[in-house]
Amino acid sequence: MISKKCQSLTPYVAGEQPRGGFVKLNTNENPYPPSPKVEAVLKGFDGQKLKLYPDPNADKLKELIAKKEGVKKENIFLGNGSDEVLGFAFLALFDGDVAFSDVTYSFYPVYCDLYGFNQVIIPLENDFSNDLAKYNDIECGGIVITNPNAPTGKSVKSNDLLSLVRTRGDVNVIVDEAYIDFATASSSLGSVASNEPNLLVVKTFSKSYSLAGLRCGYAVGNAELIAALETVKNCFNSYTLDCICQECACASVVDTAYFDEVIAKILTTRKRVVTELLKDGHTVIPSDANFIFVKNAHCNGKDVYETLKVGGVLVRHWQKERIKDYVRVTIGTDEEMDKFLLEYGKI
Ligand code: PMP
Repeated sequence: MISKKCQSLTPYVAGEQPRGGFVKLNTNENPYPPSPKVEAVLKGFDGQKLKLYPDPNADKLKELIAKKEGVKKENIFLGNGSDEVLGFAFLALFDGDVAFSDVTYSFYPVYCDLYGFNQVIIPLENDFSNDLAKYNDIECGGIVITNPNAPTGKSVKSNDLLSLVRTRGDVNVIVDEAYIDFATASSSLGSVASNEPNLLVVKTFSKSYSLAGLRCGYAVGNAELIAALETVKNCFNSYTLDCICQECACASVVDTAYFDEVIAKILTTRKRVVTELLKDGHTVIPSDANFIFVKNAHCNGKDVYETLKVGGVLVRHWQKERIKDYVRVTIGTDEEMDKFLLEYGKI
């Protein structure tokens, strides 16, 4: 017997995860390895430690992230990937209808259905830019904005977001910054979040830190919002971050030199690939993320996706009205992108 609630749910579908055989540009993973300091933690890890439960509060990691963000430990919440952080945040911070863009991260409608919230869908402009003024007067019990947006890669200015947060003092605003470390036209609101009563900034180690397999995400916010997230978390699971995860994330977050190097490489490759595609007459949405959203000059998105797959290159495509002509392509290494450009050029 299955509950009525469960029978009504449509879960999120993650991108395909084949093991080998493809140039994998479909789930916005970082093509470069994590910091060598993470490798060192794994090599030296004492398996005996696994006898005991991990620190349920992950205090050391919280302290290091707080230092990086320029906030206090009580302003940081940690989760098993930012998907978990978002899932807990919807439950902890939203009451009723949740507002978000028509083209954005497709996990938000899933959380809404799970918690019984209606969706207030705010359309993006024709060029996929987000007119935040549209959120000023709408009736809702919470707002979530992805910055930079996914799958478009377009960002809004952090100051404009902050103005929205202040204008909408009546509801909580979640800003999902999964890709903010790749942005040049926008910047993180992490350092100011602790002073805003209704702002929660959600970030992840999956993309810019090359740690998608570790499952570590976090939120920055004022102490009251963070305490609410802890309440929800502790109603599900005390130990969301295992001890290997905590140690690896600690090693990664302090290696800022390596982090900067990886980001710089990806931005250089992004620029090169965009230039090539534009030269060939394709449409590329200006991207502030580690992926690009591309419309082929000759062919619909589904055929592009399938042709690339036959050529050994995996990208992401959604058969949804507004975006069906596009595919989302993660920025890989230069070598991987050369292969992508070669196969894309044959279409
Ligand atoms: N937010 C956005 C916008 C994303 O694209 C993703 C990755 N699918 C996530 C959050 C979740 O990332 P993770 O759970 O790996 O931290």
